[in-house]
Amino acid sequence: MRIIVLLGAPGAGKGTQADILKKVSGLKHLSTGDILRAQVKAGTPLGKKVEPILVEGDLVDDQTMIGIMNDCLGEKKGFGVDGVESGFILDGFPRNINQGIAFDKILEKCGHVIEHVVYLDVDERILFDRIEHRIKNSNGCKRTDDNARTLKHRLEIFTEQTKPLVPFYEEKGLLRRIDGMNSIESVTEELLSIIGNRQQSNSSGDSSIETNLPPLKSVCI
Ligand code: AMP
Repeated sequence: MRIIVLLGAPGAGKGTQADILKKVSGLKHLSTGDILRAQVKAGTPLGKKVEPILVEGDLVDDQTMIGIMNDCLGEKKGFGVDGVESGFILDGFPRNINQGIAFDKILEKCGHVIEHVVYLDVDERILFDRIEHRIKNSNGCKRTDDNARTLKHRLEIFTEQTKPLVPFYEEKGLLRRIDGMNSIESVTEELLSIIGNRQQSNSSGDSSIETNLPPLKSVCI
């Protein structure tokens, strides 16, 4: 199983790139954010629990997230996640060192290893500046202001909690850096050169992972 982890700040283009890659490679796109949003949409107990956390831009607790990954990749194949046997691009997990360590243990149990961790490197000051600009120019429009503030909060969380995963994976010799300030096309090209061989998508041509089924298995809620 090929496992490619995408790391990057909110706004760095992980979701965009994963969406493109799933169309041109045989790899599936596994997004913990999508899984959580599907739970919220389905109104499951887990969805109800995480909804305010997503709205605030905070991180869902590690126990819940590790439980979700365990269910997705373990024998149970929870959360409607199947078809990942040949490999997947992981977007949104791990989000901190604790999750990174837990992920290693989950993979070890399943007999898999991470092939690459690709860090989409963007200048966070530019992202911050853009957000500040949006806040200043929101003219009291509450929704824009709220979104901008949430995004700023998510960036702070990224810097404090997620960015330490860069040296964590660098030490393991897994980290590849891409300049995320380049054009979408050029980032895709670089990603493809890292991922290597292009495979055919499955017969339906759809390599996205269905995350709209909410079976709750070992996840603590
Ligand atoms: P994303 O779509 O990856 O930006 O995730 C959207 C939101 O889901 C995040 O702001 C978090 O609230 C939550 N989330 C997604 N993945 C994780 C994770 N691995 N750990 C904690 N919270 C997460």
